Amino acid sequence: MFTKILIANRGEIAVRVMRTAKRMGIKTVAIYSDADADALHVREADEAVRIGPPPSAESYLKIDAIVAACQTTGAEAVHPGYGFLSENPDFPTALEKAGIVFIGPPPAAMESMGDKIAAKKIAEAAGVSIVPGHTDAVPDADTAATIAKKIGYPVMIKAAAGGGGKGLRIPGDDASAREGFIRAQSEARSAFGDDRLFIEKYIEEPRHIEIQILADAHGNVFHFGERECSIQRRHQKVIEEAPSPFLDDKTRATMGAQAVALAKAAGYRSAGTVEFIVDAKRKFYFLEMNTRLQVEHPVTEMVTGYDLVELMIRIAAGEKLMLAQKDIKLTGSAIEARLYAEDPRRNFLPSIGRISRYRPPQGDGIRIDSGVFEGAEIPLYYDPMMAKLVAHGADRAEATKRLADALDAFVIRGPSHNLGFLAATIARPRFREGRLSTDFIAQEFPDGFTGAILPPDQGGQAIAVAAAVQRIVAERDARIAGAPVPERWVIVQGDSRYPATIVRRNETITITGYTARQDVMTEWQPGDLLIRAHVDGIATLFQIEPRGIGWLLSRSGAELDIKVLPPAAAAALAGMPEKPKPDLSRHLLSPMPGLLVSIAVAAGQEVKTGEALAVVEAMKMENILRAERDGTVAKVCAKAGDSLAVDQIILEFA
Ligand code: ADP
Ligand code: ADP
Ligand code: MG
Repeated sequence: MFTKILIANRGEIAVRVMRTAKRMGIKTVAIYSDADADALHVREADEAVRIGPPPSAESYLKIDAIVAACQTTGAEAVHPGYGFLSENPDFPTALEKAGIVFIGPPPAAMESMGDKIAAKKIAEAAGVSIVPGHTDAVPDADTAATIAKKIGYPVMIKAAAGGGGKGLRIPGDDASAREGFIRAQSEARSAFGDDRLFIEKYIEEPRHIEIQILADAHGNVFHFGERECSIQRRHQKVIEEAPSPFLDDKTRATMGAQAVALAKAAGYRSAGTVEFIVDAKRKFYFLEMNTRLQVEHPVTEMVTGYDLVELMIRIAAGEKLMLAQKDIKLTGSAIEARLYAEDPRRNFLPSIGRISRYRPPQGDGIRIDSGVFEGAEIPLYYDPMMAKLVAHGADRAEATKRLADALDAFVIRGPSHNLGFLAATIARPRFREGRLSTDFIAQEFPDGFTGAILPPDQGGQAIAVAAAVQRIVAERDARIAGAPVPERWVIVQGDSRYPATIVRRNETITITGYTARQDVMTEWQPGDLLIRAHVDGIATLFQIEPRGIGWLLSRSGAELDIKVLPPAAAAALAGMPEKPKPDLSRHLLSPMPGLLVSIAVAAGQEVKTGEALAVVEAMKMENILRAERDGTVAKVCAKAGDSLAVDQIILEFA
């Protein structure tokens, strides 16, 4: 076995690989860019080597620098994690030349599976069912339209070198097939340096279900069941689970056998994932093989009980998998939610900055793979995923309940995050019923995610909780001032006001007036951002923080503003005119902190709805800001190259 390995990655996956290495008694080496000098993966490693400036191309993607880091530290093997160099065959080739072991597949298998056209051909020859279509590079837009028509619309245009949901188009007629081909071609050229495209049938109401396999160097290949990853946004997974609520044992066994056959045909070794698309009739079709550890591998670990990273390391060290397929059983259900630094209310724009509060929840069956900590900075150079929250339960209902409770109890402040969106997603009846498809988010949130007001039953609890919180704060203030605690208050919620009496007897705070009477028990202290309380004996939990002169209470993506005021203050508030809001329709504001790449318009220019005005880059993504209505540009307030704060004015309209 190795004595020291280097992890060529960052974030949660680097930390997760180190955890297993440590348990196996293997020393770990981290690599880091200047943006990550204080990152969690650096703190967790036994040693760390700086490899370059923040941009990935000058750090985490620099093969020479990583090979050199292995040589100076004496690391005998490298785990690549996912992303970065994990699917680049030049990396294992360079390591091999330097006599260092790659904890992953052989470069040849990586190369053939990395090319979706080649992979489909190998799969077909191995008896794997593939999506009907044209499995060769399509030369031009006219040919694309001819082929698409023959396959039958809708079709999917895909890049042979594609990944991360890029370069995909779903045309429904000849004209959009031509246009889609041209756009996908240029997208593929710039993203992958390879513009070969192919076309396949678009499977309607599809479910994404993938099979985890592991192959050793002695000819043994096993599958570890499936993961369903149908909850996607823009072809990127958001929530994943194992087992799939859709598969029966027979389909699972057939898919597993085909995945194993493909791995054997590809000369595969290490962990890999064979992705399938499954239609409403449970017919399944091969999509692609990912030649690496997958982001969502923890759900498989939780239902099978195997540590996939440990098996990868053992295989790389030449050990034989001492398993039998029939011993690999799925127990219970596990669901993973990807926690991103992004703002769902602003069309999921990435968010950056310092994490001022970070308190992951604990609980039975809860696993958190985290790449951050309280006080950490989210840099704008990399993927904005902060952590993965995984829940295991005896069945799907229990796993969902545990995940929902953990999402509600997770305290994060600083950058925006998607906790509320994740909670709202798994709260949908359709999710609970397991009726999933890759269109789920688009169909359930047709207008994006706007958040919601707490429903009335929870609103009543929230009001009682806010009243109790106000009482606790008033008790502290009274102690300091040596005065009695006021008992008469006015609760203000929206346009409603309720005079109320709030008193305490031992551990119980009693509110009368808002409803007949509510009893609240809580151990909340001023400054806590989470409150657990019993309201009339029922356990409840809210996130809470001061907002203006009141409180903001929230749970599962829904919130309520509540003020609990002394009668005089409530009367003064009633007499106050509403503050006029600034007229935002006259300004183009930066929706996020980032770099202003370009401005497409000049003062005096007329613009039409939908016209591109400016490009802002953040988190490696270029975001095009467009005109929301027709108008004339009065003034340009920023220039290309400026770093922008959130809500900074870029343009003024007349
Ligand atoms: P999965 O492994 O489940 O298929 P994705 O395809 O969403 O997950 O994520 C893997 C891809 O996303 C990578 O190939 C890379 O493009 C990107 N990615 C995600 N997280 C990271 C990360 N921490 N560092 C670099 N790339 C990442
Ligand atoms: P990537 O390499 O970007 O992950 P995939 O080929 O795995 O590309 O496709 C990404 C996603 O696009 C899938 O998870 C699925 O949601 C959708 N998809 C891909 N092919 C099809 C198809 N033929 N029909 C319907 N949906 C598809
Ligand atoms: Mg894929």
